[in-house]
Amino acid sequence: MKRAILSDVHGNLEALQAVLENVRASGADEIWSLGDAVGYGPDPEACVEILCSEAEVNLMGNHDAAVAGLTEEENFNISARLAVVWTRSAVSEATMKILAGLPYTASREGAFLVHASPRSPGEWHYIMGLRDAEESFGYFKEQVCFVGHTHVPFLAARQDGKHAEPIDGNATPLRRGTRYLVNVGSVGQPRDLDPRASYALLDEAEASIEIRRVAYPVETTQAKMREAGLPALLYERLQVGR
Ligand code: ZN
Repeated sequence: MKRAILSDVHGNLEALQAVLENVRASGADEIWSLGDAVGYGPDPEACVEILCSEAEVNLMGNHDAAVAGLTEEENFNISARLAVVWTRSAVSEATMKILAGLPYTASREGAFLVHASPRSPGEWHYIMGLRDAEESFGYFKEQVCFVGHTHVPFLAARQDGKHAEPIDGNATPLRRGTRYLVNVGSVGQPRDLDPRASYALLDEAEASIEIRRVAYPVETTQAKMREAGLPALLYERLQVGR
């Protein structure tokens, strides 16, 4: 079995479509989505609809929660807040209901899934470095924990009885006696200076995880955002991936 794990689509339909095409070509059997289907991008309704029909798991992200009125958006910056308000006006009642009902975590086939951090899923902590990663290992029992939220792909491993270590590169074999924390990056708004959409592929037969990058027509998304009156900062960043 192969699983595609993706996160932070943020209403970017072109990026989502490109990723789904890549997922299909990879032969993945299942898709798990870690949340933030909406916020920032111009196609929240279409992205929620596609994710609901294509993904076996759909989790709650902080932007989903904010759009649904479940999280204070006080700690959102001004353009993120404007995007939340815009998104509320762009989604149907039915989609609003779906967003409000998303679960915060899931456990599937030896993997723990959460949008931000396993320590306190509803508080949207950012796992920024090795210290945060180290702490996170104490809050899940599965071999692998997949997260999103920072929009920066990141892999860490912890051998039983040892400290967590970062993994260089974009792939790792899964070894017995070692657990893994994997940030799958963002489909719709990457922030690691690579504008291509990011997702993770978990291959059970090969016992491996790989972060994949997929190019998509950024200008199309940008034009839609301009048209929709979304803040320039939000569409300019897509081009550079930050
Ligand atoms: Zn996000």
